[in-house]
Amino acid sequence: MPFAGVSLHFPYKVWPATARALQLSHRPRARDLTNWMATIVRGVNHTLISRARGEGDMLWNEIASDEVGRMPREKTVVLFPIGSLEIHGIHLPLGTDGLVIEKVAQLAAEKEPPSLVLPTLDYAYANENAHFPGGISLSAKTLISVVEEVCDEVSRNGFRKIILLNGHGGNNHILRAIQRDLLRKTRNYITYLYLEPWSPIEDDIKELAKGATIEHACEIETSIALYLIGHLVKLNKVKSEAKTGAPGFPDYVKTTVSWQRYCIEGYLGDPRRATIDKGKQLSDKWVGEVASLIKAVRDDQVSLQVLDDYYRRSNWQSREE
Ligand SMILES: [Zn+2]
Repeated sequence: MPFAGVSLHFPYKVWPATARALQLSHRPRARDLTNWMATIVRGVNHTLISRARGEGDMLWNEIASDEVGRMPREKTVVLFPIGSLEIHGIHLPLGTDGLVIEKVAQLAAEKEPPSLVLPTLDYAYANENAHFPGGISLSAKTLISVVEEVCDEVSRNGFRKIILLNGHGGNNHILRAIQRDLLRKTRNYITYLYLEPWSPIEDDIKELAKGATIEHACEIETSIALYLIGHLVKLNKVKSEAKTGAPGFPDYVKTTVSWQRYCIEGYLGDPRRATIDKGKQLSDKWVGEVASLIKAVRDDQVSLQVLDDYYRRSNWQSREE
């Protein structure tokens, strides 16, 4: 690419080439050149920041084909973050679950190379909140197919250990069903499901919350969001603690609308109690726990053998085909 500044001194010969290089349909003006310089500086900055954080090494969609090709197949653990698109009060973004679990996955993967993080699946299962604007949910059937097919594709690339890193409580039951369904056909890989997003930090949450309601878009989720995706949190929009309704039946009986009767405002608890410090404490612990899981998965010599033996003895494949 010609040096942009020079074109101003040699307009008739260099301008057409400069215009082509800058993808302009007109003769370059000073503003075009400063925009171009700004783009270069932003790109360099981004690259330096990404490199410093090590992200570029393990995001499946940010590395090139040959780089995936060189990842050691036996040692690399693949993380598949799964979120949702649904109301999180009026103070958190619709994609909170995916945005948060993606950060957790990336930070944990950095601590435990070689790992690869797949692009986050935001289209998941959140039918229960479809009566609020902005929600998008797949059907259970479609979600099952999407997760199965993505895992099959990861396996086709030669990786055998996949962590399904769930960021949305509403996905729990489907993901468990998916895991069981995966048994119905012989596959060359195993999944490890982090079922309840907050299970590894439950004790810390209880301690910090001091008895307050801990659930959807509450003080705790908002604290974590403040720390990990703070630029998207609009806490000043929350004017009061959430009003809740009675589901009408004990917890062990679910009706079609248990959730809708209980969570009437699209959030629970009092997000105004959220702080960035609580968010940091919980996020650091969470990332540490996921990093430990990656290590445990990498070191797991038994599960794949048991799975291979299961497929051999259960004879699923011939029954499915
Ligand atoms: Zn959430």
